[in-house]
Amino acid sequence: MKLSYTDTHAHLTSEPMLDDVKEVLERAQANWVEKIVNICTDEKSLSEGLCLHRRCPWVYNTAATTPHDVDCEGEYFFPFVEQCAMQRNLIAIGETGLDYHHMHSKKETQRAFLSRYFALAVKYQLPLIFHCREAFSDLFAMADEEYRGHPAVLHCFTGDLEEAKGVLERGWYLSLSGIVTFKKSETLREVARFAPIERLFIETDAPYLAPQKHRGKRNEPSFLPEIAEVIAEAKKMALADVVKATSDNAEQFFAFSKQR
Ligand SMILES: [Zn+2]
Repeated sequence: MKLSYTDTHAHLTSEPMLDDVKEVLERAQANWVEKIVNICTDEKSLSEGLCLHRRCPWVYNTAATTPHDVDCEGEYFFPFVEQCAMQRNLIAIGETGLDYHHMHSKKETQRAFLSRYFALAVKYQLPLIFHCREAFSDLFAMADEEYRGHPAVLHCFTGDLEEAKGVLERGWYLSLSGIVTFKKSETLREVARFAPIERLFIETDAPYLAPQKHRGKRNEPSFLPEIAEVIAEAKKMALADVVKATSDNAEQFFAFSKQR
């Protein structure tokens, strides 16, 4: 069976990848990564992302200001995100959410923008990509009020089993990154074992968080197979089945085939 991977979270048009994105994409294809969700976090990365999709229709864009940057950039970027959502140039809204670990922006601003992105996603019927660190109770409480019954994925999930259950109970997906390959990440491999394969995505979060075999290097989508291998091992599944299921899940969630 031919493997066809989907990297559901990479920052291809961020500063550290932009210069050699062509070579990055060639290496991705050489490693059977056939769809990539490009996460745009500011005006530059989104403008570049729109151009990239025209050259490489298998790269799809999402956009939002990250919870880190909402204090300084959230207001400025929001109208461009909305315009792209309206013109059907985005396949999801995100990454948005709450980060009480780094706290680069105030909690109140993070929550205010999360609310606005809930409303935007509902208005344009797009799924949401969440970033959440040490803030699951607030994220769940806000979503239960304002985003109940709508689709979402927890990107780069690093929570515990209880938090994973909270995500799954809400009908959402968990996306596992290179962190699942790290030696110390036994809790996360437990989450991988526990979660039904129908609810998992895989992602690199490139250029950040290179998996174990490439640790310390700049991460890129061609490293995605290592993540699938670790999940296959944790779940005692065949690699091909993990690859197929995670790609099928992403197709269902992002509806790539319906995009223009
Ligand atoms: Zn990210």
